[in-house]
Amino acid sequence: MEFQTVLDEIDAEIRPLLGAAGTVASYIPALARVPAEHFGIALRTRDGEEACAGDARAPFSIQSVSKLFTLTLAMRCLGERLWERIGREPSGNPFNSLVQLEFEAGRPRNPFINAGALAVADRLVTQARAAACGAGPRDARDDILALMTDLAGEAVAFDPEVAASEAATGFRNVALVNFMKSFGKIDNDVADVLDMYFHQCAIRMSCVQLARAAGFLCRDGAHPLRRARPGAADADACAGAVVSDRQTRRINALMLTCGTYDAAGDVAFSIGLPCKSGVGGGIVAVVPDRLTLCVWSPALDAAGNSLLGLKALELFVAKTGLSVF
Ligand code: GLN
Repeated sequence: MEFQTVLDEIDAEIRPLLGAAGTVASYIPALARVPAEHFGIALRTRDGEEACAGDARAPFSIQSVSKLFTLTLAMRCLGERLWERIGREPSGNPFNSLVQLEFEAGRPRNPFINAGALAVADRLVTQARAAACGAGPRDARDDILALMTDLAGEAVAFDPEVAASEAATGFRNVALVNFMKSFGKIDNDVADVLDMYFHQCAIRMSCVQLARAAGFLCRDGAHPLRRARPGAADADACAGAVVSDRQTRRINALMLTCGTYDAAGDVAFSIGLPCKSGVGGGIVAVVPDRLTLCVWSPALDAAGNSLLGLKALELFVAKTGLSVF
């Protein structure tokens, strides 16, 4: 299959629709300034073949796509213990909703809604502190940047303006973490948890970098950029694993059921791929065992998912027949 041709066709079909529908996230002032008329798409196959089109190399604010990678880090460090504080069910509510938390005693439904990602951030802050050694205190913000840089194969950074903008206006996130703390479900100072969360959301990356970084999700957990030596024993081939193959299946399952919030059912119905979206307009999607994709277009639908990003994924599945179903 000639993936470059497929992506060029999708770019040509999406481009005339830019700016026609959807709205750029405005509740974070630094995001409101991003023009809606962008579209990028990139993919990387299991074997390392890459293709991209449109604004695929333009960096954007990854926002909640970061939740995929903080979850990966937390599963790697904590294993099963992570699930003591976080569920694995779709919420059926908006990503920043507070209501369910009261009924469910401060245990978020899943790691991809804001409450769940804040609970993950708390665990990562604890983990970084516990691992601090002679070189001085370790910072969970450095841990997530180091993971992203390693997975993308090039330097990845925070956008300090976006992080500051989120800190100045993130009243719901402040409420969520305080509410969970009132149930005894947050170990660290709320300020430290929020600082980690606002920074992870403010990571800047391009579609090409994100398609690469997520590559372990189509490779049974193996590092996206490292090849197993020909003829290497299984154990050797896995030496550079990001997470185990079982953990990889679980992350993909969570993306399919919870990765696009209260639109997850519709996304499974119309696209049929595990996806993780962010209000910056990025969406990472996985065709298990085949490839990872990233699309970006800043105008969002009512659920906070990129309108044309979802449309592009629908076109990709229609043109290639690649879907988990
Ligand atoms: N930083 C955003 C927030 O906390 C992330 C939300 C998202 O991308 N869905 O509201």
